[in-house]
Amino acid sequence: MNKASLRDIPSVEVMAQKLLAMDAFNRLPRPALIYLVRDESQKIRKNILKGKVTWNEEEFLRVLEKRARKFLEPSVKKVINATGVVIHTNLGRAPLNDMWLNAVKHVSQGYSTLEYDIEEGVRGSRHTHVEELIKYLSGAEDGFAVNNNAAAVLLVLNTLAEGKEVLISRGELVEIGASFRIPDILSKSGAILREVGTTNKTKLSDYARAVTKNTGLILKVHQSNFHIVGFTQSVELKELVPLGRKHKVPVVEDLGSGCLFDLSLHGLTEPLVMHSVKSGADVVTFSGDKLLGGPQAGIIVGKEKFASCFKKNPLARAVRIDKLSLCVLENVLRAYCLNEKPQDTIPVINMLTQSTESLQKKAERLAKMLEPCAHAVNISVENVPSLPGGGSLPDVSVESFAVALAPKTMKINQLEEKLRKCVLPLIARIEKNRLLLDVRTIFESEFEAVKNNLERIYRLSENTP
Ligand SMILES: *Cc1c(COP(=O)(O)O)cnc(C)c1O
Repeated sequence: MNKASLRDIPSVEVMAQKLLAMDAFNRLPRPALIYLVRDESQKIRKNILKGKVTWNEEEFLRVLEKRARKFLEPSVKKVINATGVVIHTNLGRAPLNDMWLNAVKHVSQGYSTLEYDIEEGVRGSRHTHVEELIKYLSGAEDGFAVNNNAAAVLLVLNTLAEGKEVLISRGELVEIGASFRIPDILSKSGAILREVGTTNKTKLSDYARAVTKNTGLILKVHQSNFHIVGFTQSVELKELVPLGRKHKVPVVEDLGSGCLFDLSLHGLTEPLVMHSVKSGADVVTFSGDKLLGGPQAGIIVGKEKFASCFKKNPLARAVRIDKLSLCVLENVLRAYCLNEKPQDTIPVINMLTQSTESLQKKAERLAKMLEPCAHAVNISVENVPSLPGGGSLPDVSVESFAVALAPKTMKINQLEEKLRKCVLPLIARIEKNRLLLDVRTIFESEFEAVKNNLERIYRLSENTP
């Protein structure tokens, strides 16, 4: 029966001819169409042979149309973030300022000084562009950037501890996101994990007892996305530093977020990079696109003697930062260096420092704009707790304001889905049968689009009862 079903599949040529005449496919060049038809029919063949499906032309066309559309349209596209989560890893983390993007455009449309020394007319290093800025901001002897913080951690571990033991508290063997686990990255670096203490309590004496001739480094990892509460104890960086000194073992901190601007007045007590450096850490690593508010990057700061070893490691080439990110990073770092109020130019800092009064006014403005839809949806402004850091600030909840939508003519998850599937998708969370549009992460310039999305949904759904 399966074999018979296989014979039902028309040839690729026949199908391509048929499809080329259809609207959904006429923007697709013929070779691309042939590729899609061939690929999809091979898939169907395999499934028919496994007895999973039978040939169904309608279904085949439906799937192919979807694939053709995906082939033609941009996939990484803009969305409106109405979740209130400022550092949202799934939505691309830190939004960037226009000026930085213009700089990237200017620099990358043509050639640049990426690795060229204009003064001497000779080959230069890509690390020089941000070195001074990172040193100034962190207080460290040296600093440079790599692809991301996972790469920074890998490079540091591999350089200082390949074949040696790395001491780390059991409370800090963390997983960040689904794909970054400290024990896994550590084993890939060639270092040997030496767990100390317990999940909830680790003491200085635990570290001291574990130091041997084969200790490569002591690693402290910031608990970026969780907190252990209750009967707990951990050892601060400044206590670990003397232990490292005594045994000539470098002390390294993976800070994760890497805050350069004190946000404690705004309810966020994230450790500052300069504090870790001041506490005597030999090396500190952090992300470029978390609280720093820049591009994807990993920044390594610390003692000059270690930094020069990192740069010489052949792995450094494999994890190097690309020129587009480097150009943005340079601009962001300079914004920190030159502005007394980085919230004026750095979108992430701006969003995190909005006052509750201004958030309330912002929500009221949005609610007012949405009024034309009030016949179909209850619109109110509400004070909501929001998690501005997502995975990067554990259990930190700050006050925010949201426009709450309670649809009268459709189910709440229908409204959520329709908004998510708009040409300019809007991502929001459902709470207590209402859709909350947290205005902390919605740009004022996006209000018009939010309004258009909602109006279009109600116009369309009214025409098709
Ligand atoms: C986020 C994070 C990482 C990974 O950083 P990426 O820039 O996403 O590669 C590593 N360590 C900690 C503690 C983190 O919070």
